[in-house]
Amino acid sequence: MPLRYGGLGLPSHASIAPLAYRSMEEAADRKLQEIFHPDAIVDYDDAPVLQRQRTSAFFEAEFSNTFSTLSREEQNIMLDNQSKLGRKWMTTLPFNKSLRFSDNEISFALHSRTLCPGSQAFCKCGLENVVGHDDLCNSRTNLRLARHEFIKRLLTRFISSAPNSTTTTEPMIEGTSARTDFRVSGMASSTGGSSEYDLAIIAPTASVKAARGEVENKCAEDRYKAELAFYEREKVNRYSHRTSSPFVPLIMSSGGYLTDTAKDVFKRWRMVIPHYEMLTRLISLGLIRSRAAYFEF
Ligand SMILES: [Zn+2]
Repeated sequence: MPLRYGGLGLPSHASIAPLAYRSMEEAADRKLQEIFHPDAIVDYDDAPVLQRQRTSAFFEAEFSNTFSTLSREEQNIMLDNQSKLGRKWMTTLPFNKSLRFSDNEISFALHSRTLCPGSQAFCKCGLENVVGHDDLCNSRTNLRLARHEFIKRLLTRFISSAPNSTTTTEPMIEGTSARTDFRVSGMASSTGGSSEYDLAIIAPTASVKAARGEVENKCAEDRYKAELAFYEREKVNRYSHRTSSPFVPLIMSSGGYLTDTAKDVFKRWRMVIPHYEMLTRLISLGLIRSRAAYFEF
């Protein structure tokens, strides 16, 4: 399966070869016709179907057949794996230490991408060791705060490098002891002027907190979005109208899936942050590293 479908980007020769052969045959027939029967006018109705077109139709059909058989948890992990931040590590060349994975980290990343849980049927906490359990298990090292701080630091560092932009870490909300994660002023502010952001990283297999009516009878992606929208609303209720500049919730899953609101913010940052690609690579690798640290093989 291609990376954009959440696969490993290693196509199966047995599946692709017949499609490639048909495209080659079609192109060759037309060429040979021109060479050996130049006078015979054959009016082809359609342009030849390219190998790329045949394989993309094949992958789409394969994906939808398989995806519909997966559980809610597996579908969410697949959607994470399809997302830009969830797949960026796969196209990152390990030029330096910050872009390099250890063997364990690569092994975890491949487990996650192939929906493989650890080898033990049951976790030491007593629960079944299904795919995604590692993100929720209380018996594993808790790296949630460290991961949150790591991503927050990356964001503020890169956003500060955007032209005419400044960031303030953990600005106080006047009259309270609460703080948001950071304030951005200038060109990198997604609402113009200044805006305040608060980041939350949610496990794709976390139990559904959204109301049943919001997630029922929806396609997998819309359901996942509705599940994550719950956390967005929670943040908005907590901070909106209390911050000195417009508040924007930044919700991502621990596999790199962004809510539509967060996607719009990242689009803005993409336009103004000079090394935006590097930022997305470091986030993608950071997310894998943190999960690899508590994954039990
Ligand atoms: Zn456990």
